[in-house]
Amino acid sequence: MGPTPGVRTVPLPSGEHVPVLGQGTWGWAQDPARRASEKESLLLGLDLGLTLVDTAEMYGQGAAEELLGETLSGRRDEAFLVSKVLPYNASRTETADACERSLKRLRTDRIDLYLLHWRGSVPLEETIAAFEELRQAGKIRHWGVSNFDPADLRDLAEVTGGDAMATNQVLYNLTRRGIEYDLLPGCQGRGVPVMAYSPVEQGRLLSAPALETVAHRRRATPAQVALAWVLRRSDMIAIPRAGRPDHVRENHAALALDLTDDDLTDLDEAFPPARGPVPLEML
Ligand code: NAP
Repeated sequence: MGPTPGVRTVPLPSGEHVPVLGQGTWGWAQDPARRASEKESLLLGLDLGLTLVDTAEMYGQGAAEELLGETLSGRRDEAFLVSKVLPYNASRTETADACERSLKRLRTDRIDLYLLHWRGSVPLEETIAAFEELRQAGKIRHWGVSNFDPADLRDLAEVTGGDAMATNQVLYNLTRRGIEYDLLPGCQGRGVPVMAYSPVEQGRLLSAPALETVAHRRRATPAQVALAWVLRRSDMIAIPRAGRPDHVRENHAALALDLTDDDLTDLDEAFPPARGPVPLEML
């Protein structure tokens, strides 16, 4: 398995490379009228090398994982599958059961990257011990976290085995720049790539005038500028959700867009970076 040539990759701490642009699936498998388009989009994304596919047991209460299992049958080995355990399923014993359910829905024998969806009340020691057991059993290949703020990451670093975290998946886009102040430098210092979710702010960002101006100048679309902006950093993975093939093609083409200093200055003016610590935002 490996990403198609042409899609830039980033190394996980293990040294394994993953594509910097993946595919999200939140909200998929909810509307029967969109199902065929979602499946077509997923497969087109695979063809284009967007092989990192993000899902979660939470999405549609397993329905998104089921859709992936059904669609990827025969092409499983081309994908790098990311799924997530809910915090209230993340105890020492229940994590393994949740993982088994996800594996079954995904119709596979392993999850490539398994994340704790957000921090709950289960002690991190328990979840990490369960992740490590799953890893040794070959049920997951890497583990990571999601929605962890710098204090959560400090706590994780104290836990035995906590330094094996492969990524932190967090909200990041032009309108959510708080993580640049402290979370990103911390992850960068540890060699851990960050996975940006909702990189186009679920579509709300796309009519922002500054984005349209830059897009017009660069003969690109607002979505492409928004994605190229997230991917301007070499240690960042973006996982936009596109349930329409034309959106998948458009997003893939964003990989060829290099924003200039002028573009970045204009975007900074419209979407200023944080000047101090900002509580981590979640969607
Ligand atoms: P998003 O990717 O920012 O936005 C998705 C929306 O943007 C969809 O309505 C999609 O429309 C539209 N879109 C995508 N590409 C477009 C384009 N080129 N032009 C116009 N519209 C476009 O939001 P998201 O789904 O919240 O985030 C992405 C993924 O991150 C999720 O699907 C999920 O896998 C993950 N996530 C994780 C967490 C977490 O807590 N860890 C939280 C939120 C999301 P179409 O569907 O019609 O193409």
